[in-house]
This record gives sequence, structure tokens and C-alpha cells, in this order.
Amino acid sequence: MITGRGRLKELHPQVRPAAEWLVMLAAAQGWDVRVTSVYRSMREQDMLYQDWIRGRRTLPAAKAGCSQHQYGLAFDMVIAEDMHGPLQRAIGGAWRQVGGWWIGQTDPVHYGVFWTAPSGCGKT
Ligand SMILES: [Zn+2]
Repeated sequence: MITGRGRLKELHPQVRPAAEWLVMLAAAQGWDVRVTSVYRSMREQDMLYQDWIRGRRTLPAAKAGCSQHQYGLAFDMVIAEDMHGPLQRAIGGAWRQVGGWWIGQTDPVHYGVFWTAPSGCGKT
């Protein structure tokens, strides 16, 4: 089952086709796919960042203005409700093979692109 696929339309037009492909690749294995976050406003990103720096979330969040989510360049997706599981890693590997950016276990649900972060953001 796929949940949240419609939100992929929030992605940049050059990122969306690869994202749609990745979602369908996972679903075609019979795995549950849940798209959990795509575009984020400044306010949403700031809330996530504040939670991150206060230790209230386990997944990292960049400062407001510094997240790929704010530019339509990334989406978060959980495979089989096991974000640190082998199926998530398999899909992360597939994303890398088509040129996507997947950091691995520190933020396994994040599927992004290689980019240069805005100035003042540091390494994200
Ligand atoms: Zn993300």
C-alpha cells in the first residue's frame, strides 16, 4: 500500500519523476510505502529544528531556510514501517544508484539530491 503519494507533486519538477519511480519500485515489491514529508514551510521547518536541537526528535532537522524540503528537493518516506530496516536500506541504495542523495542510518527516511545549501546553512 502507498500512503501520501499525492504529496510528491510538491517536489521540484526535475526531482518528481525519480521520486515517483522510487515509490513505485518499493510498492512493486509489495512493501508498504508511506510518504511522510515533502514540502515544508519556514514555520514547519523551524518547529522541527527546535525539536531537534532540544532532543525531542530522533531524526535530524536543518535550520529553517536550510532544508532541501523547503525547495522541493527532498521527500521523506518510510518503508514497511521500519525506518532503520533492510528494506529502507535497499531503497536508499536504489536512490543512490540513480544519482540521488541518501545519507543512510542517521536520516534513513530522507531522499534528497546533491545540492549546494544556501549561504549561512553550513554543511547540511
Ligand atoms: Zn527529509
